[in-house]
Amino acid sequence: MSAMSALPQPVPPCRSDPSPSFGPAPRRATRQVRIGGVAVGGDAPVVVQSMTNTDTADIPATSRQIAELWRAGSELVRITVNNAESAAAVPRIVERLAMQGIEVPIIGDFHYNGHQLLATEPACAEALAKYRINPGNVGFGRKRDTQFAQLIEFAIRYGKPVRIGANWGSLDQALAARLMDENARRAEPWEAARVLREALIRSALDSAQRAVELGLPAERIVLSCKVSGVQELIAVYRDLAGRSDFALHLGLTEAGIGSKGIVASCAALAVLMQEGIGDTIRISLTPEPGAPRTHEVVVAQELLQTMGLRAFTPMVTACPGCGRTTSEFFQELAGRVQEHVRAKMPEWRISHPGAENLTLAVMGCVVNGPGESRHADIGISLPGTGEAPSAPVFIDGEKALTLRGERIAEEFVALVDDYVDRRYGRAAGGG
Ligand code: SF4
Repeated sequence: MSAMSALPQPVPPCRSDPSPSFGPAPRRATRQVRIGGVAVGGDAPVVVQSMTNTDTADIPATSRQIAELWRAGSELVRITVNNAESAAAVPRIVERLAMQGIEVPIIGDFHYNGHQLLATEPACAEALAKYRINPGNVGFGRKRDTQFAQLIEFAIRYGKPVRIGANWGSLDQALAARLMDENARRAEPWEAARVLREALIRSALDSAQRAVELGLPAERIVLSCKVSGVQELIAVYRDLAGRSDFALHLGLTEAGIGSKGIVASCAALAVLMQEGIGDTIRISLTPEPGAPRTHEVVVAQELLQTMGLRAFTPMVTACPGCGRTTSEFFQELAGRVQEHVRAKMPEWRISHPGAENLTLAVMGCVVNGPGESRHADIGISLPGTGEAPSAPVFIDGEKALTLRGERIAEEFVALVDDYVDRRYGRAAGGG
C-alpha cells in the first residue's frame, strides 16, 4: 500500500444529490385541498396540525385543548370521534370555539364506526372540516367496501375533504396477504418489508382511486401512510410521492416520548421536506407526564422554521455553554428571551407583522459571543468566567451599547421589545 492510499482520500461529490444548490428542492406539485379556511398542498405553505388527547365527549376539556393548540399555532386540529357521545359533542365544541373567535378547522378521526356516526349525527358531519378515514379499519370482509363508500358519500354530501390515512399499525390485512401471495409467485420475490410497504401505499392509493370513482374530487383528498421507523417512513413517502399528485400529510406515527420522539420525527420529516415532499405535518409525540399537549405544535413550527420553510416566532441562537462560562445566567437568559418572544408572538402577529423573522442571539462568552451576536438582528454576549462583568449588545451587526449590573436580563428583554417596535411596528411601516 502506498503512503498516499493510507491517507484519508477526498470524498467525491454525491452524484445522486437531486439538489446541488443551497436549500430544499422545489415543493412537489400537488392538488390543493381546502380544509375550512386553510389550504393544504399546491402553492400553500406546509401546514402545521395537531391532535387532542381529551375525551371528545368532554366538551369543556376538548374545547379548551383545541383553543390551546390553536393559540400555540396549530392551523388544523384533529379530534377523535369514536362513539355517539363524541359525535354529538362535535357541533357544540365547534360552536363554543366560534364564540371565542376561534375558527380553526376541526378534523374528525374515524375508525370502525364512522359511517354510523356520520349517519346518526348530521350536525357532526356538517361541523367537521374534514374526515380522516383509515382504510385499514373502515370495516372488515364484505362490509369494508360498503362502509368506505358510505363515508365517501357523506364527504360528497356535506362537501368535505377527507384524509385517507393508512397506518402501519392497522394495515389492511387482506390486502397485505394478497400482495404476499403475489410476491411468492414472483421470479425474484421482494423482501417481506418491501411487500408490506407496498401494501401500505396501495391501501392509500387504491382507496383514493375508489373515492374518486365514487365521485369525490381529487382536490378533496389528502393521503398519508404513517409508519414508526425513520428509514421506512422516508422510503414509503418517496415512493408515494412518485405515484400520485395528491396532497400529502407527513408524520411519523407513534414517534415516542421526549427527545427520542422529537429527534425521530424531525429526522424523517426533514429529509422528506428537503426533497420537496409534504404539504402538512403532525409531530406525534407522547407527552411527558404533565407536559402541555402544545409541545407537538412548537416542535412542528421549529422544524419548519429551522429548515427555512416558514417563520412563526423569533428564533434565539444560543451557545451550548462550556467551561468558559460556569454561570447559569446565560442559559436562563436564553430561555427567558425565547419564552418572552413566543408569548408576545400572538400579539405581535397582529400589531407587528414580520416580527416572526426576527433573529436573536444570547451567547456565553467572548469567544463566539460578539461574532454570533453580530449575525443576529439583536444579540448579547455575556461575560464568561474571568471576563469583565459587562455584556455588549449588538444591533443590526453593530455594537450598540453595553449592559452591566443586576438587571441585564430585564434590560435586554426591553431592548428586544424596543427593536421589534421600531422595526415591525405599524408606525414604522412594518406591514
Ligand atoms: S461562546 Fe463561549 S461559553 Fe459559549 S460555548 Fe463558545 S466558548 Fe463556550
